Amino acid sequence: MEAGADGLHVDIMDGHFVPNLTMGPDILRAVRAAVPNAYLSVHLMVMRPDLYAPQFIAAGADTVLIHVESPCDLAATLKSIRELGKRAGLTLNPETPVTALRGYAALLDEVLVMTVHPGFGGQAFLEHGVEKIAALAEWLPELDISVDGGINADTGARCAAAGANVLLAGSSLYHADDMRDAIAAMRWQAESARKS
Ligand code: ZN
Repeated sequence: MEAGADGLHVDIMDGHFVPNLTMGPDILRAVRAAVPNAYLSVHLMVMRPDLYAPQFIAAGADTVLIHVESPCDLAATLKSIRELGKRAGLTLNPETPVTALRGYAALLDEVLVMTVHPGFGGQAFLEHGVEKIAALAEWLPELDISVDGGINADTGARCAAAGANVLLAGSSLYHADDMRDAIAAMRWQAESARKS
């Protein structure tokens, strides 16, 4: 946050929906305690987001992003997130078409486009995500469009030009020589790309 990020994005993986296993609500609670005023976006890559969304909200999430591919009642889960006063979003895996969001638009604050296969950090950016962002920006212009996976200043600018307004970057920032410079460069390139 001191390097100039707008917020933190926390990837939650359950070892079933994706093979990797990350952290549970207690770790998010510790993050919230460490950065009480930071915007926290929580991305649930789990089989039962309906069970876990309330727990992560209680732990401090501002936005909860669930997967359209999760085998649960998506509409009820999105409604429950909003009933708890938080922002709700659906996430699309790389192979999932934009049309999978049909019927849910009224329940959404944000759509997250995955530009890697979810589960591990450090993967290369999948280019066809840019077309998906453009299609979403045309169809649902009132929603935030975020993008996750292989985002750096260059891929971030292409996503921003297509209509993404939330760039989620991990490896490119954590491996940068200076995170403050890397965030500033990403922001400048993305804002320039959106204007042009
Ligand atoms: Zn994520």
